[in-house]
Amino acid sequence: MQLDAFRAALDAWLDEHQHDLVPDHAGVGSLDEQMAHLSKVKRLAFDAGWMRWGWPEAVGGLGGSTLLRAYLGEALTARDLVEPGIYSMTEVLAPTMIDYAPAELAAAMVPRLLRGDETWCQGFSEPDTGSNLASLSCRAARTDAGWRVTGQKVWTSLAQYSQRCVLLTRTGTPESAHKGITALFVDMDSPGITVRPIETMHGAPEFSEVFFDGVLVPFDRTLGEEGQGWSVAMDLLPFERSTALWHRAAYLHRRLEQLLGAAPAGSLDAADLGEVTQILYAFRARSRATQHRLDAGERLGPETSIDKVLVATAEQAVYDLVADALPAAVTIGDDPASERWRTGFLYSRAATIYGGSAEIQRNIIARRLLDLGNDR
Ligand SMILES: Cc1cc2nc3c(=O)[nH]c(=O)nc-3n(C[C@H](O)[C@H](O)[C@H](O)COP(=O)(O)OP(=O)(O)OC[C@H]3O[C@@H](n4cnc5c(N)ncnc54)[C@H](O)[C@@H]3O)c2cc1C
Repeated sequence: MQLDAFRAALDAWLDEHQHDLVPDHAGVGSLDEQMAHLSKVKRLAFDAGWMRWGWPEAVGGLGGSTLLRAYLGEALTARDLVEPGIYSMTEVLAPTMIDYAPAELAAAMVPRLLRGDETWCQGFSEPDTGSNLASLSCRAARTDAGWRVTGQKVWTSLAQYSQRCVLLTRTGTPESAHKGITALFVDMDSPGITVRPIETMHGAPEFSEVFFDGVLVPFDRTLGEEGQGWSVAMDLLPFERSTALWHRAAYLHRRLEQLLGAAPAGSLDAADLGEVTQILYAFRARSRATQHRLDAGERLGPETSIDKVLVATAEQAVYDLVADALPAAVTIGDDPASERWRTGFLYSRAATIYGGSAEIQRNIIARRLLDLGNDR
């Protein structure tokens, strides 16, 4: 299906089903409520076909351009039908499975994620391993029965809701750095896994600590080859900075539009508003180009760090404007609307941390795009 036809037909379907798709909860809702609602929206959108467009037929999709996926997320977000952060996890993890899992495994698993029957998480960061991902130490040892995984992950978003985890493990020596990393697709109900949610400052336990105590993972759950985990991670991260960010732009536009309606007369400085709008449009123009490159089949790489820097800047700029115009809502308001503004403001502070911090993105841009040299 072509983008224009998809857009028109999807908009008509959303108009018709708006009533079934709006959340039951008022305001932001608890994370439990958000997750239950997300599953419902994905199921309805999958069963009606929308959630399948833009994905390969081999994994239950209906084929077509990746732009269709970008528009679906944009439309759902712009109508406040999904929270983009949790919705867009699919855009990060499904492509990884398609590229690296054995074909039968991808065919069996990806439809479950697309339909909202399952949630998956991404187990990369560890207590001593964030920016320096190649130093990770969660170990997978070869045994006759499969991999035995022992170690700890942290900040694993949605782990407490997840049935599966894309997990980076060390299978080589510590000195082997990125050459000794292997990616696994782990069932989260495997014996030996303990998940402990972590409270965040915006009030939702979005991420968890995850402990692996001799967890057995079959060899056919290896993503790519043994020792190829670094490539899996490097190919996954650009996905975290492409379609998912287009959805985030739709969310930021929606919030800016809502701010214009909610801000008391005279509380918005015209020059500040102009600057924030410009930052947001600059990001959107950049991301549009990225969506088209993805659609053309280009392999995304370090240049998506530019998208990440721009979106994080835009998100914080939008919410700085919110804090200027609606200070009471962001600090002490306790009605559902204030709670939404406050949650959004607090979460925007994480935009320069998750998916690789702003400093790390700038390092990538400096070294890999501008060729400005390495660490001394
Ligand atoms: C909301 C949220 C969700 C997340 N979800 C997940 C998830 O699902 N899965 C997952 O694996 N991880 C997740 N993370 C973790 C995230 O990827 C890490 O927090 C991030 O990569 C930074 O790592 P760190 O926290 O260990 O900080 P550190 O790496 O310790 O960095 C601390 C500070 O030092 C700076 N710094 C570090 N190294 C350099 C350098 N070489 N040059 C300049 N500055 C440097 C950083 O920019 C940062 O400001 C999430 C984080 C957040 C906030």
